[in-house]
Amino acid sequence: MEFALSSEQTLVQENTARFARERLAPSAKAREEAHQIDHALIQEMAEHGLLGVNIPAAYGGSEAGVVAYALALREVAGADASVAVTMAVTNMVSEVIHRFGSSAQKENYIPKLVGGEYFAGAFALSETGAGSDAAGLKTRAQKDGDAWVLNGEKMWITSGDQAGVIVVWARTSDEGTKGISCFLVEGDTPGLSAGKPEEKMGLRASHTVALSLDHVRVSDAQRLGQVGEGFKIAMLALDGGRIGIGAQSCGMAAAALRESVSYAQERQQFKKNLASFQAIQFKLADMATHLEAAWALVLQAAWLKEENQPFSQQAAMAKLYASEKANATVREAVQIFGGYGYTEEFKVARFYRDCRVTQIYEGTSEIQRLVIARALLKQAAQSQGVS
Ligand SMILES: Cc1cc2nc3c(=O)[nH]c(=O)nc-3n(C[C@H](O)[C@H](O)[C@H](O)COP(=O)(O)OP(=O)(O)OC[C@H]3O[C@@H](n4cnc5c(N)ncnc54)[C@H](O)[C@@H]3O)c2cc1C
Repeated sequence: MEFALSSEQTLVQENTARFARERLAPSAKAREEAHQIDHALIQEMAEHGLLGVNIPAAYGGSEAGVVAYALALREVAGADASVAVTMAVTNMVSEVIHRFGSSAQKENYIPKLVGGEYFAGAFALSETGAGSDAAGLKTRAQKDGDAWVLNGEKMWITSGDQAGVIVVWARTSDEGTKGISCFLVEGDTPGLSAGKPEEKMGLRASHTVALSLDHVRVSDAQRLGQVGEGFKIAMLALDGGRIGIGAQSCGMAAAALRESVSYAQERQQFKKNLASFQAIQFKLADMATHLEAAWALVLQAAWLKEENQPFSQQAAMAKLYASEKANATVREAVQIFGGYGYTEEFKVARFYRDCRVTQIYEGTSEIQRLVIARALLKQAAQSQGVS
């Protein structure tokens, strides 16, 4: 067993850490206040290979693998979680097109996503009535000659108002999960419109919008995968996405820990540094230990995916554990900063707000526990069947 990164993975980590330190961290607060990420910054990220980390070079990607993707996303999230979620969804959209798309779809869309020509890609699964229960979606796609006509409302779509291409899930029949299909809808398609970005607790530079599809017409060549294959595509994409949320969580937790260690060494009370109090030392020790454990789970899931081995359960565990421990860590970071942590003057307040959603999106903590428990029970049933 090897616990070392390859030279390529180390290079990705070091380059991304430098980019995050120099180009993202100093301007994160300004982006949050403006509720905006500039397209020029996205293009800079493309030049650093961050928009297609696990995409083959033939399509303009970095072809660096899933572990490298987790390493890069962790660094970006530690500097600016809004940029990290934008990066994560764009990578996810390219990956899903690469895995399920036709040659024409791959050649048309992936280079624009990874090269930064598009601001972002978007992933439109959720609806007001279909969150945890994604199969409850009501958006419809009706066949009309060689085209499909899409009608419905999507909710919570990251970068939905800025994306060049949106993966839209819609019902093509009433056959439950087998009645869902997937379409690639370009951002400027007539009939597609976006609501105002939600006023969120965190990730404020990232736009989260409702999308309305009013007789949106796409050709059959815009269908992604087979008719009825949409739910499977969504679940496979979310398995990979969960590795990303785990990495984002670790990035925020690592940044909060770094800030806490340095503040505890500077701040004096009772004529001593906070770091000299055992109660504070114990907090730092727990934060560091949880981060190491979470990161090990994320890397394990990433490695399994990279090795083409089953990784769904491990990705759910990594997302569950990393998001819960990262939230505990950012909470303790605010505690270590005392009243100052409760102000926007210090970064820990932003980490606290940004981190909360990691326990909610791409499947809540409760849904991760369902995924893990189902896998355990299935394995138990299989082994009982064998014995
Ligand atoms: C900032 C942000 C960005 C997002 N980006 C996207 C995006 O780009 N694309 C997209 O498609 N979606 C996106 N989402 C949607 C996100 O994935 C959903 O919010 C999430 O899946 C939860 O769905 P819900 O909000 O409808 O909550 P609900 O499903 O209504 O859940 C409410 C509560 O009930 C619990 N619950 C539900 N069912 C069960 C059950 N069976 N057992 C136990 N507990 C249960 C949940 O865990 C939760 O605590 C985003 C959300 C946010 C907040």
